[in-house]
Amino acid sequence: MTLLQVTDLSVEFDTAEGVVRAVRGVDFTVERGRTLGIVGESGSGKSVTSLAVMGLHRGARIGGSVRFDGTELIGAPEETVRRLRGRRIAMVFQDALTALHPYFTIGDQIAEAYREHHGASRKAARKRAVDVLGDVGIPEPARRAGEYPHEFSGGMRQRAMIALALSCEPDLIIADEPTTALDVTVQAQVLDLLMRLQQDRGLGIVMITHDLGVIARVADDVLVMYGGSAAEQAPADRLFADPRHPYTRGLLDSLPRLDAGDATELRAIPGSPPSLLAPPAGCAFHPRCPVYARERNPLCTGDRPALRQVGDAHHNACVLDEVTP
Ligand code: SF4
Ligand code: MG
Repeated sequence: MTLLQVTDLSVEFDTAEGVVRAVRGVDFTVERGRTLGIVGESGSGKSVTSLAVMGLHRGARIGGSVRFDGTELIGAPEETVRRLRGRRIAMVFQDALTALHPYFTIGDQIAEAYREHHGASRKAARKRAVDVLGDVGIPEPARRAGEYPHEFSGGMRQRAMIALALSCEPDLIIADEPTTALDVTVQAQVLDLLMRLQQDRGLGIVMITHDLGVIARVADDVLVMYGGSAAEQAPADRLFADPRHPYTRGLLDSLPRLDAGDATELRAIPGSPPSLLAPPAGCAFHPRCPVYARERNPLCTGDRPALRQVGDAHHNACVLDEVTP
């Protein structure tokens, strides 16, 4: 069942230098019990997309449609969006310290959030806080509920933030680089935790990351963003088996390969992300594209490439992708 349907989403800001087009015409859906991975470099529009969905992008012009469980959020009264936020849609960020208040214990914060959304008694809310801390794998949850955020390790703080997000029993979690600050082992544990919670509760998850390794671990469907637009969209297994966009291929080449041992050389994609104020003509990726460097095809610098279907549920925005479905 479709939980979130985003159609032709655009986000623009006015700045002293001109209009920044942070997101241009992005479409995606998130089903209950499934994870959509949104991957791209910083400045690709992936975080802006999630903030727009949450109604948190003040001062921006937002166009298109965001339907959450049938309710249109773009242009909806602030009260409607605020009620959904926290209760049915929750966010998990990279830095738990910005989400958790330093002066209140972890248990009190979760209990307060729960009371606010469910109107429970103090006692019931406290019990709920301890339960949910246990659910996210925090040992001795009753004792640790009485501790402050600074007393938690980085990984435990991420778990506490996930507990805070879960305490309101959301249907959708938007996670923006939730494990980027963690070491690899803890990162894997936190991602596995999210996947387990998803299975238990049928959560829809939007996982925003710059790391295709994270996508490989958790995503069912993938949206690859570049310069504010979709470069490629596909079910995860298809994207990894048959990456079509040269940018996606570049991201895959920059993944460390476990089987190659120390001999692997990490190949980052040369060049930097495009300006969103004055994007390159045609395909925004052309200044960095190895195919364009080789072929100098004028199609790459002509019209902005549209996303085209190249396979079953597989879409690519490269004009030189010949295959028709
Ligand atoms: Fe590269 Fe051209 Fe395809 Fe863009 S449209 S990704 S520049 S080959
Ligand atoms: Mg970001």
